Amino acid sequence: MRNKPVVVVSRCLGFGVCRWNGVAIESRLVAELEGDVDFLPVCPECEVGLGVPRQPIRLVRKKLSLALVQPRTGIDLTRIMVKFSEKFLQSLDRVDGFILKRKSPSCGLAGIPIYESPDSECPLNRNGSGFFAQAAHELFPHIPKEDEGCLDSGTFLEQIFHGTS
Ligand code: SF4
Repeated sequence: MRNKPVVVVSRCLGFGVCRWNGVAIESRLVAELEGDVDFLPVCPECEVGLGVPRQPIRLVRKKLSLALVQPRTGIDLTRIMVKFSEKFLQSLDRVDGFILKRKSPSCGLAGIPIYESPDSECPLNRNGSGFFAQAAHELFPHIPKEDEGCLDSGTFLEQIFHGTS
């Protein structure tokens, strides 16, 4: 008998009301997979101690690297988020895929705005990845990852179900 694929999923996609603004959202992809995969929900921002609701955070260019900061409070979450992400991901016995919330400076896979400073009005570019997503890219480069907003998830579904034993 084949085991179900294990999919790490952003917790706000139907598993908990944990978004910065306290609003719940639904994901068509998550609903589609209900019952066919074992979901492993995680909210990196809650795990590093941010409450719900909370002030938004953003990616900020810092010399040659990036920082994760909360402009309203001035809190720099970079180290704690990197530490949490690596610890969580390294603790996984098995993972076959990721479904991550788009547009998030923690979970977003790509296209995340990068600002020059915490209080900049406009982003320098939109070439960033969320810190948790970036750690997933680095630790699991070959495991399929999907943006919850993707309209054509055929390849992702093929990949997560292919080879599960
Ligand atoms: S996008 Fe990620 S960090 Fe933000 S609320 Fe959802 S699970 Fe939490």
